[in-house]
Amino acid sequence: MDTYLIEKDFKNLLKEQASYREAIMLAHWDMSTKIPKNGIEQRSEVVGFLSEKLHQIETSEKMKYFIDVLKDSTENEVMKKTIEECEETYERNRKIPNQEFKEYVMLQTKSESIWQEARENADFSLFQPYLEQLVDYNKKFANYWGYEDNIYDALLHNFEPGVTTKTLDHVFPELRKSLTSLMDKINGSTHKPDASVLTGHFPKKDQEAFSVEVLKRMGYNFTSGRLDETVHPFAIALNRNDVRVTTRYDEKDFRMAVFGTIHEGGHALYEQNINSELINTPLATGTSMGIHESQSLFWENFVGRNKAFWESHYELFKSHAPAHFQNVPLDDFYRAVNEVKPSFIRIEADELTYPLHIMIRYELEKALINGEIKVKDLPGLWNEKMNNYLGITPPSDKEGVLQDIHWSGGDFGYFPSYALGYMYSAQLHNTLTQEINLDEIITKGDFNQLRNWLTKNVHQYGKMKKPLEIIEDVTKEKLNPEHLVNYLMKKYSSIYQL
Ligand code: ZN
Repeated sequence: MDTYLIEKDFKNLLKEQASYREAIMLAHWDMSTKIPKNGIEQRSEVVGFLSEKLHQIETSEKMKYFIDVLKDSTENEVMKKTIEECEETYERNRKIPNQEFKEYVMLQTKSESIWQEARENADFSLFQPYLEQLVDYNKKFANYWGYEDNIYDALLHNFEPGVTTKTLDHVFPELRKSLTSLMDKINGSTHKPDASVLTGHFPKKDQEAFSVEVLKRMGYNFTSGRLDETVHPFAIALNRNDVRVTTRYDEKDFRMAVFGTIHEGGHALYEQNINSELINTPLATGTSMGIHESQSLFWENFVGRNKAFWESHYELFKSHAPAHFQNVPLDDFYRAVNEVKPSFIRIEADELTYPLHIMIRYELEKALINGEIKVKDLPGLWNEKMNNYLGITPPSDKEGVLQDIHWSGGDFGYFPSYALGYMYSAQLHNTLTQEINLDEIITKGDFNQLRNWLTKNVHQYGKMKKPLEIIEDVTKEKLNPEHLVNYLMKKYSSIYQL
């Protein structure tokens, strides 16, 4: 058979894979937004069944055949990268014995519901035996996959290929030192914002109306997407023509919904603007969790928490907001939404303390996977680190070690992506502002130029480029935490008059 025909068969197999993936994601979206409570159990089984089918294709002999035949014969760049991606998935998945994979998937589902219960009751002991097993599986898998320096690198690779503990252990302490010293200065400032001006009853439908308008202005395409309500906000791409956003409304505090929607909108724009040539290949998605986060954080922080944004959007905001905002001057409002205050919950943290939350999780999970600490000691160690890094101690494990869902799904190596994404976004911002007057276009409320820049430099590639390749190609330097520090110094020096 000639290469052309083989490629055609291979594309059919890719399409089959993409169809399973889409069905799984649609089921996930449904389970987080619309499903009646009694439907959850059977739907979980359906997801399990479909995941197994997908896993079978990824590790099939047929897949291996296509990889072997096409690897060196194809001329097409997209096909080459697709084969690379499929080969990596094949190799990694084949290293895990089938039986163990099945047991692990069942453990994941079970652990998530146990974690929920443990969190609601602030009872870590319920979750502990499950977490112990999840850690054991991850250690086992990491050994199957292999690593050079640190066993944790094998897990990190799943979320941020190319980044290692060596890099993180270099940039995180540097970042922590700068952030802590900035925080000390802020604590000593006598010019503090007053966040109490932001509270008051803000009906859900009004928050929604404002959020929808902002998403539209960002360039989020509602004909290829939709906005729904959920407990934990997320964005999900079924394919580039169906990218959905969810948000959460708190009628006492609009910040969750407004900044959350802008954040998820940033994720969604990435997926909506991936090159259409990549459709139905495993390359048609964001290249890593970190680069994804760089896009959401860019919009949330560099746009949504920017003074220029509120200069152009405050009138619109007030037209949806409770009456008392009419008496809140723009400057007070801007400073209030940028208040720095150590808090227990990661997803509610301000721009400055956020990376410290991530470092705590990184250090703990790295130590867990390396066998340096035990699961049962996590709550105590968590509180100790919170106290060291942020100067506060959670009142219970609900606001402490149990707050995030990631470990319950077996996701170890994921958290660093959040801080990496933040550093990436600051580095991209530094380059972008040399080419574009960002404040000027934000003041005009016209985001086309910004979105086009991000599409040209990041979005379009999907997984055609690796995370660090994107950063180095665009910014012409390696990962550099200084850009984030400089940005925060400049911003908070003005807000707190340091
Ligand atoms: Zn995000």
